[in-house]
Amino acid sequence: MLKKLFQSFRSPLRKPQQHVRTTPEVLSGSQHSLQRNQFSRYAVNIVERLQTAGYQAYLVGGCVRDMMLGITPKDFDVATSATPEQIRAEFRNARIIGRRFKLVHIHFGREIIEVATFRANHPIDDEDEDSNQSSRNESGRILRDNVYGTLEDDAQRRDFTINALYYDPVTERVLDYANGVHDIRNRLIRLIGDPQQRYKEDPVRMLRAVRFAAKLDFGIEKHSATPIRPLAPMLRDIPSARLFEEVLKLFLSGYAEATFEMLVDLELFEPLFPASSKALEYNPTYTHTLISEALANTDLRIKQNKPVTPAFLFAALLWPALPARVLRLQERGMPPIPAMQEAAHELITEQCQRIAIPKRFTMPIREIWDMQERLPRRSGKRADLLLENPRFRAGYDFLLLRESAGEETEGLGEWWTDYQDANDSGSRDMIRDLGNKPDATGQGPRKRRRSSSGKRKRAGVDGAE
Ligand code: ATP
Ligand code: MG
Repeated sequence: MLKKLFQSFRSPLRKPQQHVRTTPEVLSGSQHSLQRNQFSRYAVNIVERLQTAGYQAYLVGGCVRDMMLGITPKDFDVATSATPEQIRAEFRNARIIGRRFKLVHIHFGREIIEVATFRANHPIDDEDEDSNQSSRNESGRILRDNVYGTLEDDAQRRDFTINALYYDPVTERVLDYANGVHDIRNRLIRLIGDPQQRYKEDPVRMLRAVRFAAKLDFGIEKHSATPIRPLAPMLRDIPSARLFEEVLKLFLSGYAEATFEMLVDLELFEPLFPASSKALEYNPTYTHTLISEALANTDLRIKQNKPVTPAFLFAALLWPALPARVLRLQERGMPPIPAMQEAAHELITEQCQRIAIPKRFTMPIREIWDMQERLPRRSGKRADLLLENPRFRAGYDFLLLRESAGEETEGLGEWWTDYQDANDSGSRDMIRDLGNKPDATGQGPRKRRRSSSGKRKRAGVDGAE
């Protein structure tokens, strides 16, 4: 008991926390740009009801940060002194959820407001997690994360100063425990506390630093940036399912191109995509161009509110790593087509050990790649059959991507562009004209197969070399 008391007294002293105060800077309504009617009325209503019930409650995190920057927030988070059970007792439409930690979701039609109880930092002794984390280890973390705390604790356990701002829509005051407003003004991502320790506690924070820097067009403050390169390999120990979620956020938030540059620069790309990182070394121009183009297209589609598929993105991120593997298998005597199939299988299996790409995405990745072998083979009814294939569009877009990265395909992309526009007689002519090209028509089945695999090599995998 005494020991416990002593520890709880001593532990804050053991963790020197720069940028965190026990008394916050308080900004009154006239000292900041936030207005309560800009926030989700449901979120504001939840805060009001919790406060009326006698709890502390604030809007917090990304929504306060984004609003201060004039960005429309993705969602609205509430932090409160009420426990999940107490929150549920106040709201009929509340559901306790929790994988990594217990949270409450309050539903208003399609809008969901996440309400979290104030939490404290991991105790420092828990920092050394087993590096070979299994799902059990991850669930071990659940319990440790679920330590409730005071408002001050809650501010302290957050990752970046700009994410630790609390807005009270009732008094219209902002509580700033970590000089977050200063960092917003100076456009800086800065970890709360000792950066090295905070990255070690949770290496995903390195990815989050990059994500916010790219999204907000902020710099990463020097002391928060320096430990990243040496600590980047720690990402290898993060459960692959969590990394999948993080990678989607990194590449599907509309700032993927800038994010990629930063990940490479800070040596965070290697632990996420080891094979692609090797390709970036051996075949830099092609690999860099193909991935950047794919990400720039993705960013554009997101800005235009068009759908994007993670499969296409992963297909592009991994494609430059294929040729070396195909060659290796061919050198061992495997024919080109099985070598391609086997290389694709190996690459995806290996990648999934780092980032758990679900089957619903790995299947279409394979289909997009397979389509690259089929697109050169257009004779007879093949072109029309391909056009009807539900994966045609993705395969065709992928072909154009490869061409824009410098792959030589003998005008295959343009041919398909024309073919889709051609009327009946035009398309018949196009197929007939292929007759002069040995690798696209096919005289007999055996010859066709051999010649088309030659084309496949050139247009597909080997072209990337
Ligand atoms: P956005 O939702 O716009 O991507 P966000 O800041 O809301 O940004 P979330 O991932 O929704 O990010 O997390 C909500 C808040 O929880 C963050 O603002 C931060 O304060 C805290 N947080 C999230 N992840 C971590 C982490 N790994 N370590 C410490 N604090 C975290
Ligand atoms: Mg959020």
